[in-house]
Amino acid sequence: MDIEEFRKAGYQAIDRICDYYASLQERPVVSQVQPGYLVDALPSNPPEQAEDFNSIADDFQKMILPGITNWQHPNFFAYFPTACSLEGILGDLYSSSVSNPGFNWLSSPACTELEQVVMDWCAKLIGLGDHFLNKSGVGGGVIQTTASEACIVICVAARARYVRENPEAKLEDLVIYTTTQTHSLGVKAGLVLGLEVRALPVKPEDEYGLRGETLHQALAEDHAQGKRPFVLIGTVGTTSSGAVDNLEEIGEVLKEHPSIWLHVDSAWAGVAMACPEYRAFGKLDAINKYAESYDTNFHKASMRLNSWGLVNFDASMLWVRSRKNLTDALDVTPEFLRTKQHDAGLVVDYRNWHLGLGRRFRSLKVWFVLRRYGIEGFRKHIREGVELNEYFASLVRASPSFELVTTPSLALSVFRLTLPPSVSSELEGKDETTVRTAQNDLNRAFHTRISAHSDKIFLTQTMLNDTFCVRFAVGAQRTRKAHVDAAWELVQENAREATEEWLQ
Ligand code: PLP
Repeated sequence: MDIEEFRKAGYQAIDRICDYYASLQERPVVSQVQPGYLVDALPSNPPEQAEDFNSIADDFQKMILPGITNWQHPNFFAYFPTACSLEGILGDLYSSSVSNPGFNWLSSPACTELEQVVMDWCAKLIGLGDHFLNKSGVGGGVIQTTASEACIVICVAARARYVRENPEAKLEDLVIYTTTQTHSLGVKAGLVLGLEVRALPVKPEDEYGLRGETLHQALAEDHAQGKRPFVLIGTVGTTSSGAVDNLEEIGEVLKEHPSIWLHVDSAWAGVAMACPEYRAFGKLDAINKYAESYDTNFHKASMRLNSWGLVNFDASMLWVRSRKNLTDALDVTPEFLRTKQHDAGLVVDYRNWHLGLGRRFRSLKVWFVLRRYGIEGFRKHIREGVELNEYFASLVRASPSFELVTTPSLALSVFRLTLPPSVSSELEGKDETTVRTAQNDLNRAFHTRISAHSDKIFLTQTMLNDTFCVRFAVGAQRTRKAHVDAAWELVQENAREATEEWLQ
């Protein structure tokens, strides 16, 4: 393709992207294709001869788009909706145009320095303390691909620090602490590193957040058995219900165990800290006081305007109190990677702050988005989303047929159908498990029923301890109050039908 062909194809691509966004509402929320649809349709070998670009671009429209679940659809309320802002798309386009692996300062000074600046901007935006800033020269921030990868990086650094401080420790005794509500990233880190993971219990009466006393007891048990917990992955905004661990209590317990690293995963909720009014909910003071590291996904979405951090995948922002802990664990510098700027200590080489060598120029899209929205626009967007969820929660509260399982968390509500009065009276006096099993059955039937309308709406389910619930995560760029109203109509209609069928 020569430059003029690219210009033409590029204009067409932008036109088609605009048409895609303009037609989102008419598209199914969840892709309606069957397994194997694309594998069967595409040739099993690459073409011998070069193809015309127009036909390639047309095949994207004809063959790829139908197999896309439209995460930007206004009726996407599943998982945590993820999406991108148009500014973010342009950021990625420019980043692709100067495609380079940016692993050290010299390989593209702008990539490193923009990331340093943007990470400090984001830290200030969400209220992190000065010790997490790159400017501090001690702590700092780095963009990772995902919160899961950030967690692995942190476990590697925490393990290295622990072993340095406790040289007698055997690797098989090391334990990663999570809770039963921690995202699977904790188990994944354990798998990758070959380390034991212990999930500490949490209780419904604590809104599924970890308490200090539980941690204290677990540490006593494990230490008595010669185990060595070396990192605790706390969460602000769990995936299932948006729960928040009690980081003040946890921090106080860990004061007695300074070798244990506190990492806070706030993949979803972290960007809401841009609004000062949510910082107490997000335990920001405790994070600043006790956390060794903190991660939030600017690409993790919710809210009506694109992703919550307004940035398209991927941009997981990781801050550490001490950058040396990262580089002590991850710095491998063969001769071919040495540079005089790094040897002289003049620059940061981000290759030593993550798992790979090469890295994408992700700070560009974040920079575009932050400049385009400003702090004011960013906060406005967060607040609007929380309000939409509060509206949904108010509909649930007002209905005798439903109940909220936990207090709504920012843009997430977790709810379920109540048992019909006839069944409730039949089950009166029965044990808790029997009642819960019946209610779980009913709610599974409801969720299965509403999932059959995946062209119109997408809701995902979860288990909170033994309770089956449905999640409503407000999100996507074009979600408005009218979409929440329409979703509520569908929820009620499917609940009615599911209940009638279940009663038969
Ligand atoms: N942590 C929490 C609380 C999440 O909700 C999620 C995803 O939903 C993750 C981590 C995983 O994020 P990633 O895909 O960036 O690894």
